[in-house]
Amino acid sequence: MDQNPVIIVGAGLAGLCCAKELGKRGIPVILLESHSVPGGRVRTDLVDGFQLDHGFQVLQTAYPEAAAQLNYTALQLQPFAPGALIRTRGGFVEMSDPWRRPGKLFTTLFNGVGTFSDRLRLARLRLRVSRLSDEQIQAVPDQSTRTFLLQTCGFSEDIVNRFFRPWFSGVFLEKDLATSSHYFQFLFRIFATGNASLPSEGMASIPRQLAASLPAGTLRTNTQVNSVTPREVRLTSGETLSARAVVLAVQGPEASRLSQGAIPAPGACSTTCFYFAAPKAPFSQPLLVLNGDESGPINNLSVVSNVAPSYAPAGKALISVSVVGDHAANLKQTEAAIRLQLKSWYGASTDAWSMLRAYPIHFALPAQPPGFQAAAGPLLKTANGLFTCGDSTTTASIHGAMLSGRLVARDVAMETR
Ligand SMILES: Cc1cc2nc3c(=O)[nH]c(=O)nc-3n(C[C@H](O)[C@H](O)[C@H](O)COP(=O)(O)OP(=O)(O)OC[C@H]3O[C@@H](n4cnc5c(N)ncnc54)[C@H](O)[C@@H]3O)c2cc1C
Repeated sequence: MDQNPVIIVGAGLAGLCCAKELGKRGIPVILLESHSVPGGRVRTDLVDGFQLDHGFQVLQTAYPEAAAQLNYTALQLQPFAPGALIRTRGGFVEMSDPWRRPGKLFTTLFNGVGTFSDRLRLARLRLRVSRLSDEQIQAVPDQSTRTFLLQTCGFSEDIVNRFFRPWFSGVFLEKDLATSSHYFQFLFRIFATGNASLPSEGMASIPRQLAASLPAGTLRTNTQVNSVTPREVRLTSGETLSARAVVLAVQGPEASRLSQGAIPAPGACSTTCFYFAAPKAPFSQPLLVLNGDESGPINNLSVVSNVAPSYAPAGKALISVSVVGDHAANLKQTEAAIRLQLKSWYGASTDAWSMLRAYPIHFALPAQPPGFQAAAGPLLKTANGLFTCGDSTTTASIHGAMLSGRLVARDVAMETR
């Protein structure tokens, strides 16, 4: 039997889960990561006592793969309240989930966003996604989320534009709701059945927990891979490593480069997150704020420290503002436009908010147009013999990345036994 290890390139959630699963099966593994820490797109910086995740992101407790692989208790998850505050027509209204917060039923029914019939359609959609399996959802032709909501479900333009659009633009990181309706329905079920939450020590504690379960010596950080073949990995340092199998667990575009095009490069969905420190939170609820008006740069906002107080030092509030798109080239202008919008929402007190850091992320998520799942695979092994995993091979989420890592490990174990 080949005594060489399986080499996994990339220690994001997919690579970490792949290494963990191969380790459980007693297969020797080396996990190579170009950065100084594992986690990939799930990282957290410590800045002046604030915990800043690389872009606003949350863990959905109902993700089946996360629930199976992570110790939620050790992560000390801090939940958002179900629902959202919607900024619309000069004020804020609450859109709650009346099944989980029945006390909010009245405010949600009469908050002025959408029609009474939309409330019935929401109930129907909730029932539909909770009853159907993923296979049943995927059995009907896929369409864009916008078409699904307007035409298939019959929602009004008003509720789509002022509620679904800002909510799911913040999830898909694209403004047109052009993403697959199959994926939308999966996520709607996840949102309806679990909590969006933050680990008290930042999102980085998720990959940290996975990395801690690996045998010592498995993970090699600060190690950039230059090129690969199915049995060999060449590092930029010049070193060459032999492998019984090579798994690419890198972002879609890098997987495409390393596989010399055998893995198609996905489109990119981008976002920029601005973090502000404030002497006082502008509101006290642990709720997400959605921009229900189609004006200004802000898509969604969160007072992160209302949800997880450990994200800010005592006596300070941490506010994240998410903008769809990569604003790296115009950060100053975007910050100025955000500040104008914040002032119109919360008044002159926002002048005292100081910008801590901005995170423009070009490849935040792979694009997932209708039909992407059927087209992608599961593409876990390329024609030229390389294995692959990551969110571009399943769904663009923590769940998808973790699931793909475990599934590819199973295939590698079977083929290299
Ligand atoms: C701003 C933002 C918000 C998000 N919000 C959510 C959310 O709320 N909920 C959710 O479920 N998901 C969210 N996601 C998506 C989720 O974070 C990703 O789907 C998931 O982390 C992808 O993991 P991965 O392992 O597939 O890829 P990555 O995390 O990209 O890991 C790839 C790794 O490969 C390494 N690498 C690349 N090239 C090389 C090389 N040549 N040599 C060595 N190493 C290399 C990289 O450094 C990286 O560590 C969000 C993502 C972003 C960016």
